[in-house]
Amino acid sequence: MSQIGVVSDIHGNLPALEAVLNSLEKSRVERIFCCGDIVGYGPWPGLCVRRIREANPLCVQGNHDAAACARLPFDHFTPSAQLVIKWTTAHISDKETIYLKELPAIHTEDNLVMVHGSLRGPLWEYISDRWVAAENFSLFNRPLALFGHSHIQGGFVSLEGKVDLLRPTKEPLKLAPEAKYLINPGSIGQPRDGDPRAAYAVVDLLNREVHFKRISYDINMIKKRILREGLPRDLGDRLSLGR
Ligand code: ZN
Repeated sequence: MSQIGVVSDIHGNLPALEAVLNSLEKSRVERIFCCGDIVGYGPWPGLCVRRIREANPLCVQGNHDAAACARLPFDHFTPSAQLVIKWTTAHISDKETIYLKELPAIHTEDNLVMVHGSLRGPLWEYISDRWVAAENFSLFNRPLALFGHSHIQGGFVSLEGKVDLLRPTKEPLKLAPEAKYLINPGSIGQPRDGDPRAAYAVVDLLNREVHFKRISYDINMIKKRILREGLPRDLGDRLSLGR
């Protein structure tokens, strides 16, 4: 495998998922890697499961996926998230429920590992600072780990015992052979880094580069659908802000 598309945190946002998959299909990536949370928050959970499955991804389970297929208690979710999980459970088919239920917590390849949250807590832990990143770097021995959950595009690099934050740049990130990386493609369906566009990444394994990408989609379409389904208005409003 040379070029892979990396996606995460789709959260039932079909127009954003369509925009990203169309773009990845055009760029002819060989395989799609999905760091989980296909459902939750958004009004098209079943269609997002179906659409992502058509792309034949390697996928791990997110905390919202686990909650929606009743494998995980969710009483500590925010009130809005709890409400949508109950709605999601009632709006996905048995087939879609089984798909979410059977997703693994961790996926490992020769040269990379993929989780939703972190290596230490695949469903729950947020890798949101250098200290948590450092503890997780000690838990894998591949050059690259893909993760999501924080909805923040970027990641961390570990080189000669020092861990640094990586912010996405327009130029591709060059992967140093002597370093290890934790890479977050950002969230497709509910970005929280201040940029409302759908986030994803293309990783060129052969040339050792990460391309952080953003793409615009029709946010008004999902905001209208959230209201029509009777889901909390704030879930749509935050999409315009990317927060
Ligand atoms: Zn998420």
